[in-house]
Amino acid sequence: MTRRKMLVGNWKMYKTIAETRSFAEVLGRNLGKLSAEMDFAVCPPFTALQVAKVVLPTQVAVGAQNMHQSKNGAFTGEVAAPMLQEIGVKYVVLGHSERRQMFAETDEAVRDKVEAAQEAGFIPILCVGENDAERNSGETMTVVARQTQIGLEKARPDGDAIVIAYEPVWAIGTGKTPSPKDAEKVIAAIREVVVVALGETEAAKTRILYGGSVKPANIAEFVAEKDIDGALVGGASLDPESFVAMAEAM
Ligand code: PEP
Repeated sequence: MTRRKMLVGNWKMYKTIAETRSFAEVLGRNLGKLSAEMDFAVCPPFTALQVAKVVLPTQVAVGAQNMHQSKNGAFTGEVAAPMLQEIGVKYVVLGHSERRQMFAETDEAVRDKVEAAQEAGFIPILCVGENDAERNSGETMTVVARQTQIGLEKARPDGDAIVIAYEPVWAIGTGKTPSPKDAEKVIAAIREVVVVALGETEAAKTRILYGGSVKPANIAEFVAEKDIDGALVGGASLDPESFVAMAEAM
């Protein structure tokens, strides 16, 4: 099974509308460097989603960084699927460790968001990963298996309708990474959980990305691993030159 490689930029709480336009201009000048054999996306803050959809080259899809599980309601500060549908986003990052840690998102809330996002026609990028304490106590596999299993409980049995990102929390924004071999081992274990949730055929289609301190200098060694289908990149995705350099290195 060959899965299309993916490069996804998670901009977190960075970039205004004007900065999004500048990013798109640089990308537009480098289109020849974005392989037609790969999928690209950036996930700007909500306020820049609409402009991103308009100004980014069509090869680069737009994703949201979060979404509420209800279609509407008294949820001050939240954004619902119909609002994102109007903009035309393709992906929604769900269960990012910053949401789990700082905004108390539970496995069950993430599961419900996955269901709502798929119902709305988006492809969820379900993030899973252990923190430093869990890693040090040997719980990595247990934690990522639990997050993946619950996250997929209400998912459609369709491997193309979901992307999973393995992001060890201790590697996010720290400059530290697991070795590609260690990331591969965890991702292969995640794929086994996907087999149980979606079935063998669909799990073989499901793309699983690595995320955590990925940059142009190290991306190639991660995506060279058999089960690693691309990268979810925070910091290094903010600079358009570095986004293009990662696309080329893959
Ligand atoms: C992320 O925020 O998903 C991420 C992987 O961040 P960074 O690349 O900056 O470690």
